[in-house]
Amino acid sequence: LLTIDGVWKRYQDHSVLRGVDLTVSSHEVVCLIGASGSGKSTLLRCVNLLETVDDGAIHLDGQEITDVRADPDDIRKRIGIVFQAYNLFPHMTVLDNITLAPRKVHGVRRAEAESQARDILTRFGLADKAATYPDRLSGGQQQRVAIIRALATHPRLLLLDEVTSALDPTLVNEVLGIIRELKQTGMTMILATHEMTFARDIADTICFLDQGTLVEHGPPAQIFDAPQNPRTREFLYG
Ligand code: ATP
Ligand code: MG
Repeated sequence: LLTIDGVWKRYQDHSVLRGVDLTVSSHEVVCLIGASGSGKSTLLRCVNLLETVDDGAIHLDGQEITDVRADPDDIRKRIGIVFQAYNLFPHMTVLDNITLAPRKVHGVRRAEAESQARDILTRFGLADKAATYPDRLSGGQQQRVAIIRALATHPRLLLLDEVTSALDPTLVNEVLGIIRELKQTGMTMILATHEMTFARDIADTICFLDQGTLVEHGPPAQIFDAPQNPRTREFLYG
């Protein structure tokens, strides 16, 4: 579904990504782990074309999305992204937040967009919040709505960047629950996370990034129980 080939990203003279290669299959859940500053967010931002890559290429469904001729808006229609801090529009109800992109970007009629939004809110236990404004929701509810909003355009791929790290520990589980449910529906996801227990539980593949290099990747049992690279061992077990 997604291939990342030899991607480099530099800011001035600092190389943040140094030739990252990664392939993500349909329905696969990939967790990016690594120290703060290792390049996890930058990699996700490159995939969503929020950053341009300096070298290398990224393909989605066989199309080179890093091609200068590719239309970023068109590509972003196929990739959902949710960040650490809630990104809901504060002046809009939950329902309007969710239906905005389907209506404005994808041209879905309001009645249909709202009906779909209510279905998905019901599925994730937030049906009674449709008319609520974000500031009346808990952090966990806001983040669940942000994820639902990203799903409303039926993306091929969902990118989640530390979606629980701004939350109270008691609220983390409800957000992890929704991600777990999405995995069951076969959603392809790349998550950057500091929650190692969760990463181990949900990921098909763990990727350990260190200073912009993908040092090691593999199934959770391999990375957590038998890391091959000394830098992975150092990161996980100090
Ligand atoms: P964290 O776990 O703290 O979220 P991360 O792995 O997501 O870290 P990135 O946010 O990708 O790390 O940052 C990687 C490096 O790139 C950092 O050294 C950061 O300072 C640098 N960086 C990120 N964005 C910019 C920018 N716009 N300009 C210059 N440097 C940047
Ligand atoms: Mg980050």
